[in-house]
Amino acid sequence: MEMIKKLKIGNTPTPIFKINSLSDRYSTNIFIKRDDFSGIEFSGNKVRKLEYLFGDILSNNYDTVITTGGVQSNHARATAAVAAMFGIKCYLVLNGKEEEFEGNLFLDRAFGAEIIFSSTPEAEMESLKKELTEKGRKVYIIPMGGSNELGSHGYLDEFKEILDYEKDNNIKFSTITLATGSGGTYAGLYYGNYLLDNGFKTIYGVSVNNSEEFFKEKIGKILKNIDGDVDVSKISINDNFIGEGYAKFNEDEMRFYLEIAKETGILLDPCYTGKAFRGFISMIENNVLNREDNHLFIHTGGIFGYTKEMRSMMKKIMEE
Ligand SMILES: *Cc1c(COP(=O)(O)O)cnc(C)c1O
Repeated sequence: MEMIKKLKIGNTPTPIFKINSLSDRYSTNIFIKRDDFSGIEFSGNKVRKLEYLFGDILSNNYDTVITTGGVQSNHARATAAVAAMFGIKCYLVLNGKEEEFEGNLFLDRAFGAEIIFSSTPEAEMESLKKELTEKGRKVYIIPMGGSNELGSHGYLDEFKEILDYEKDNNIKFSTITLATGSGGTYAGLYYGNYLLDNGFKTIYGVSVNNSEEFFKEKIGKILKNIDGDVDVSKISINDNFIGEGYAKFNEDEMRFYLEIAKETGILLDPCYTGKAFRGFISMIENNVLNREDNHLFIHTGGIFGYTKEMRSMMKKIMEE
C-alpha cells in the first residue's frame, strides 16, 4: 500500500447535512453527503477514483489514457477533464450511438477527448491500445467506472470523511445508501466499514443496471484484490429499482425527482442517484431501515446526464 500514489484533485471533504423536511415526513434522521460537490467539471464520485488512477498514470509516465462508459457516462467526462488537466491524451470508447450533442458528451469534446462509438467497447479499447502503442504511445486503460482495487481506494477516503463527521458531530450512522453501477464506490465504502468501523454500518447499494448476484460477485472480487482477509458476506445490493434499465427512465420516477427537488432543493439524476434515492426512501417506508437511527445517503453526482428526452418528460409533468 505504500506504493499507492494519490493526487489531490477533487474538492473534498464534501459536506454532509440533515434533510429536515424528509426526516420530519418519515419520522427518522436522513442525512446526505454531497459528493456531487466534488468539483464542477469533475462533479460526482468518479474523481475520487481518478485521484488514485491518475496517481498511477503520472508516476509511471503514461501519456495516453483510454476508458469506456455509456454515451452520457459521468466517468468518461470526469476522466476527460482530469486528463486535460494533466496534459494526458484521452480516448473515450462510448457504448452506443452518437446522440444529441449535450451534457456529458458535449463536455467530453470540450475537454479535447477523442470519441469512438462502439457496441464492443472492451475489444475496441484493446485494439486501440495496440494501435497507439505501435505508434510509440504509452497507453493506460481505465476499466469502466474506474472500478478496480486502485480506484476503490477513493472511497476508503470517503469513509474516513464520514467517520470524521460522526466524531465532530457526536452522531453515528447505522446505514449508508448509494447508487451502484460498476461497484467500485460500494467496494471502497464496504472496505472502509470493515477496516475502520468494525463493520458497524450496513451499506446498501441500489443497483442501476445489474442483478444482486452480479454485483455480489463483482464487488467481492474487487474486495479480495484489495485485501484477501475481508469478509464479503455482508455485501447488500438492492436490485428492485433498475426500472426500465440503465439510463432509462419513466414518468413515475421523474415525478418523484421533481417532488424531491421542490421539497429539498436537491436535484437527483435519472441514471443513478434518482433510482438509488427511490430505493432508499422505499427502505425507510418499509422499515428496512430503523426509524430511530441515523441514515446517510450519498449523492454521487450525475447532473450533466440530463438529456433532452428527460427534460421534455419533466416539462410535460410540470405543465399538468
Ligand atoms: C458511476 C456513478 C455511480 C456508481 O458508481 P460505481 O462505482 O460505478 O458503482 C453512481 N452515481 C453516479 C452519478 C455515477 O456517475
